[in-house]
Amino acid sequence: GIVLGIESSCDETAAALVTTDRQIIAQRIASQDEAHAPYGGVVPEIAARAHAEKLAPMIAEVMAEAALDFQDLDAIAATAGPGLIGGVMVGLVSAKALAMASGVPLLAINHLEGHALSPRLADATLDFPYALLLVSGGHCQILQVNGVGDYRRLATTIDDALGEAFDKTAKILGLGYPGGPAVEKLAREGDEKAVPLPRPLRGSKEPHFSFAGLKSAVMRAKDSGQYQNADIAASFQQAAIDCVLDRLRVSLDAASPLPSLVVAGGVAANSAIRAALEQFAQVRAMRFVAPPLSLCTDNAAMIAWAGAERLATGQNDPLDFAARPRWPLDPDAEPVRGAGA
Ligand code: ATP
Ligand code: MG
Ligand code: FE
Repeated sequence: GIVLGIESSCDETAAALVTTDRQIIAQRIASQDEAHAPYGGVVPEIAARAHAEKLAPMIAEVMAEAALDFQDLDAIAATAGPGLIGGVMVGLVSAKALAMASGVPLLAINHLEGHALSPRLADATLDFPYALLLVSGGHCQILQVNGVGDYRRLATTIDDALGEAFDKTAKILGLGYPGGPAVEKLAREGDEKAVPLPRPLRGSKEPHFSFAGLKSAVMRAKDSGQYQNADIAASFQQAAIDCVLDRLRVSLDAASPLPSLVVAGGVAANSAIRAALEQFAQVRAMRFVAPPLSLCTDNAAMIAWAGAERLATGQNDPLDFAARPRWPLDPDAEPVRGAGA
């Protein structure tokens, strides 16, 4: 079978065709980084307009490249939340119209489920259950993934997401937007021991994350004028890694043993974080799985794949499915002070 995936929840417009046996047969992705860069972050109106301009031609291109008609598809999957509502609406309404016109089932996908299942698109041998570190621009969670649609949250952030901490650090250091790749690059030239920075919540028995204090310390370090930018970047990245490993340890110790540690979301593209996680997994005798970089940051192949996974379990969604700006993966998780979806 073949699933069309559509992604428009943040600042990437994307369309992809993925087969149920894990082949990405065509894909297009357009980043709006340049449009948002002057503002140091994503501007919702600019994002929605750009999605509206770019999405339809992109869908036409992937269909033409694969020489398919919409009737040939097994499903059309679009991100239905969480995210910026204007952008989500553009993608979801397009998917609904195409599904209605062609009589193909619609799948309204939780963007976080796309990230959570993306490692299974890249690796056919990754079975449930697995421990998932989901680290992106808007989310920072540890989840126990038991199956399609069965997610138990073990930890979340009480303030900033990890990607947000990278983006804010980049802004403080004048590196521009998006910040993660720029901080990673600069950190390679710096000394991670040069700047004393806090490790918020380290040692706490509560499993949650906190990065606001780290960001404030980065700001103070910069304002002091005492340190090189590269040293601040390297020290920030090391502090972030130490926090992630400590929080993972507490979460996993409290959960039933899981055979694999999986990382997903935009921050999973960071090679220092990947290396630290790989070592952590090895020590705990867990298998480590990280998707290729192109599947870490926002893309439509992961949305198509989440659609394929849900379709395989017999699911689809009604054509009046409403977009959800907030949509937690684990609806039973207890609310945490300050935490997002
Ligand atoms: P969400 O998935 O929570 O809705 P999003 O879709 O904006 O948020 P993603 O596209 O998954 O997030 O990830 C983008 C984030 O990943 C940004 O914060 C970016 O700085 C960060 N990021 C990307 N590459 C790297 C990297 N190499 N190192 C660190 N962070 C990175
Ligand atoms: Mg982006
Ligand atoms: Fe994302």
